[in-house]
Amino acid sequence: MSSIIQLLPDHVANQIAAGEVVQRPASVVKELLENAVDAGATEIKLIVKDAGKTLVQVIDNGKGMSVTDARLCFERHATSKIRHAEDLFDLHTKGFRGEALASIAAIAHVELKTRQDQEELGTHLIIEGSKFTSQEVAVVPKGTSFSVKNLFYNIPARRNFLKSDTVEFRHIIDEFERVALAHANIGFMLYHNGSEMFNLPGSNTRQRIVNIFGGRTNEKLVPIKESTEIVGIHGFVTKPEFAKKSRGEQFFFANDRFIKSGYLHHAVMAAYEGLLKEGCQPAYYIYLDVPPNTIDINIHPTKTEVKFDDEHALYAILRSSIKHSLGQFNVAPVLDFDR
Ligand code: ADP
Ligand code: MG
Repeated sequence: MSSIIQLLPDHVANQIAAGEVVQRPASVVKELLENAVDAGATEIKLIVKDAGKTLVQVIDNGKGMSVTDARLCFERHATSKIRHAEDLFDLHTKGFRGEALASIAAIAHVELKTRQDQEELGTHLIIEGSKFTSQEVAVVPKGTSFSVKNLFYNIPARRNFLKSDTVEFRHIIDEFERVALAHANIGFMLYHNGSEMFNLPGSNTRQRIVNIFGGRTNEKLVPIKESTEIVGIHGFVTKPEFAKKSRGEQFFFANDRFIKSGYLHHAVMAAYEGLLKEGCQPAYYIYLDVPPNTIDINIHPTKTEVKFDDEHALYAILRSSIKHSLGQFNVAPVLDFDR
């Protein structure tokens, strides 16, 4: 009997995997921004056209890539960020799966320009549907520029499934804000269809929040700070009187990575007990630093769901820290008056 099972060619495997990593243009934005952060960039520029449907470009001034790496980066499971299984429990970078670029290059037209600081010349390379169509030595700025054009050009079903430009661009802004909030020290810019949407100079967390969400945010912020063996906490919650009916700006970061956690959100709400009007929610920007070996980020390809070793302790520490800060700022209950 002959066998009927075959290994799929790489470009087919990449296209299948891309479905998991790349849901929409905003997924490309997230992956490219995080790569730029990992490359040590101090300035990162995001250029978007048609809500990312025709172009997502990220330009960084990070460490760039060698000629060989410029090709290798598009291979599946090709990464410079981890070497051994143990490294998964000691992560210091946003990336580590080595699959984003392979996935993106399988479903778009990608142009890469990159140069390392010590080199005079860099690399200019084009890859379309996992196939290299050109590679040249070129005069390019230090750092890296990835242009991702015509996303899902070869998967019409996916392309048709994309929402309106307004909706897709909202998703892009969400990803941009999350990365920008996680890295206040890095300068970020965002252009859409030729207009400047954000120009955020590198600064501190408070200034970054104000630069993104507007000057009136400043007076609302209540700083939080806590340091234990399990977790370091910093960031801001907001005074209860500014709570809104909608959830709005609620951000958790764990080791400089945006995460979602219904459980920790509950801890925040518990700290506000008795201070909020019925159905109102505070904005918060909370940064948790935990030892890398006590957090599992490898639960889902997009890495927004994570698992902490000692969630219960984290809950208790977070709640008491916020309660303490709100108390210190002499925040009065607002239950009995309207504003
Ligand atoms: P991962 O980030 O998980 O390693 P990616 O597919 O996103 O996987 O990237 C593959 C590799 O390409 C990275 O490990 C890195 O070495 C290199 N790379 C990607 N983007 C950049 C960049 N902007 N600057 C320098 N190197 C980069
Ligand atoms: Mg990556």
